[in-house]
Amino acid sequence: MARLGYRVLLVERMPFGRMNREWNISRDEIQNLINLGLLTTAEVESIIAREYKDGFNKFFDANNPSNLKAPVLHTPTVLNVALDSEKWLQMCGQKLRAAGGEIWDETEFIQADVHNTQVVVTVKDLISQTQKQVSGRLLVDAMGTASPIAWQLNGGRAFDSVCPTVGAVIERGFEPGVWDSQYGDVLYSHGDISRGRQLIWELFPGADEELTIYLFHYHQVHPKNPGSLLEMYEDFFTILPEYRRCEMDKLVWKKPTFGYIPGHFSVGSGDRTVAFDRLIAMGDAASLQSPLVFTGFGSLVRNLERLTTLLDTALKNDLLSFRHLNQIRAFQNNIAVTWMFSKGMMVPTGKFIPPQRINSMLNNFFGLLVDESPEVTDNFIKDRFNWMTFNRLALKAARKNPVLLWWIWELAGAKDLLRWTGNYVDFGRHALVSALLNGWFPRFLRRIGPWLEPRYPVLWLRLLAINYALTTGIARPQNLVAQVTSKARLQKPEII
Ligand SMILES: Cc1cc2nc3c(=O)[nH]c(=O)nc-3n(C[C@H](O)[C@H](O)[C@H](O)COP(=O)(O)OP(=O)(O)OC[C@H]3O[C@@H](n4cnc5c(N)ncnc54)[C@H](O)[C@@H]3O)c2cc1C
Repeated sequence: MARLGYRVLLVERMPFGRMNREWNISRDEIQNLINLGLLTTAEVESIIAREYKDGFNKFFDANNPSNLKAPVLHTPTVLNVALDSEKWLQMCGQKLRAAGGEIWDETEFIQADVHNTQVVVTVKDLISQTQKQVSGRLLVDAMGTASPIAWQLNGGRAFDSVCPTVGAVIERGFEPGVWDSQYGDVLYSHGDISRGRQLIWELFPGADEELTIYLFHYHQVHPKNPGSLLEMYEDFFTILPEYRRCEMDKLVWKKPTFGYIPGHFSVGSGDRTVAFDRLIAMGDAASLQSPLVFTGFGSLVRNLERLTTLLDTALKNDLLSFRHLNQIRAFQNNIAVTWMFSKGMMVPTGKFIPPQRINSMLNNFFGLLVDESPEVTDNFIKDRFNWMTFNRLALKAARKNPVLLWWIWELAGAKDLLRWTGNYVDFGRHALVSALLNGWFPRFLRRIGPWLEPRYPVLWLRLLAINYALTTGIARPQNLVAQVTSKARLQKPEII
C-alpha cells in the first residue's frame, strides 16, 4: 500500500486488534479491497480462515401451509469466506502505521469541538486516565452502532431497528458428524416465534474444527422491549443443543461474539444525517447495512470505493462543511425498498401475531429465490437488484401468497406502509432516471472531470455523488468515473 496522502490518527477504545465479533464475507466483496490497492491477493489469502463450499438458508415450516413450505436455498457465495479477525485487524493496523498513520488504542473518544478551520477532539487515555486533545481537518466517526456522535446527529435515534446478536467461536467439542465444515448455515430457524421474537441461527466454520455460531432476531426499537443481549445469551446456551447436537460441558469456548447490528428505514437519500461541519459518519455509525442478512462489514467493503473516492474529493478541495459531507453516503434506492423485508421479520412490541407468521414470510420469499438463478439470488442478497427484478419477485411472492400484503400491513402498520409506498415511487423514478443517464453520464463525467474539478469542485463533488447514486446497486461492473478518480487520489499530506 502506498503512503497515505493525509495524516491519519485512529483512536480506538479497545486494545487494537481485539473485537467481540468475527467477519464472514464473500470473494467478490473482498476483491474490492484488492482493487483499491489496500490488500494484495496474497494478503487476502493469508487472512482467510476458511472458505466453505455452500451455505444454507432454511426456515422452520412444520406449521406453515403447504404453499409456504420451502426447500433449502443454497447461497454458496454469500458470507462463505471466514476471516481470521485478529490477523485481519493486526494487518490493518500494520498497514496503517506503515503508510504513515498513527493509532492510539485504549483511548476513548470524549468530545469534538468543531471550529471554522479545524475540529478539536478530546480523548481519554484509559490506562493513565488522563485526557488529551488533538486537532485535525476532519473527524470520521466510525464508532459503530452506539456512536454518541451518530446519536446526537440524529436526535437520539441513530437507527430504526436492530438485530440483537449473541454467539461464540467454539474451538471444538462437537461430535464428528454433527457438522461438516465445508458448509455454513447462513440463516436457519428451528422453531416459531417465542416470547415475541423469531430467533434465527447462523453457523460459519472457521479454522480447523472451529465453528462460529450466532443467534439473532430482527427487532423493533422500543422502550418497553430493550432487546437484552444477556437474555439472548440465556436462550443461546439453553437451545444450542436443540440446534446442533452437543454436550455443553464438552464444548471448548474460544471467544464471545455479540452486538447490535443497526438497520435504518430510509425515506429518501437525505433523511439520515451522516455529517456535520468537519465531521462524517461511516459504517455502522451511518447505519450502513444490508436489510436482508445485515452484513454491515460486507456492505462497508462493497461501498468503500464510493465512500473513499467522494471523501478524497471533498478533502482535496476543502469541501468539509455539512452540506458537502452529507452527500457522502452509501444510500441506495433499492435498499430503501427492501427495509420492508426486515420490518416483515420483526414482531411489533406487545402485539400478538400467529407464531408461524415470520417463518411463513421468510419461506414465502426465500422459496421464490430457490427458483431463481444463483446470480439473481446472490445479487439480491448483496443489494444488487434493479426495479424490474424487484417487481418481478414481489409479484411472484404475492401470487404465491395473496394475503402477503395484509400480513405486511399487520406487521408494519399503516404509517410504515405509506412511508414505504413513497420509497417505492422514488425507486421507480430513480430507475427511470438511471435508464436515461446510465448509458452516457459516467463517460461524460470521466471526460469533463479533469477540466471541471479544479474550476468547479462543488459541482464536481455533487455530480460524482449523483453518479454513484445512479450506478451503485446494479449488477454490473464498477462505473468508469470511479476508476479514473481512484488513480489520482490522496496526494496532499494533511491531518484528518
Ligand atoms: C456478532 C456480530 C457478528 C457480525 N458478523 C458479520 C459478518 O460476518 N459479516 C458482516 O458483513 N457483518 C457482520 N457484522 C456486522 C459488522 O460487524 C459491522 O457492520 C461492522 O463491524 C461495522 O464496522 P464499524 O467500523 O462501522 O463499527 P464497529 O465494527 O462496531 O467498530 C466500532 C469501533 O469503535 C470503537 N468505539 C466505540 N465507541 C468508542 C469511543 N467512545 N471511543 C473510542 N472508540 C470507540 C469500538 O471499540 C469499535 O472498535 C456482525 C456484527 C455482530 C454484532
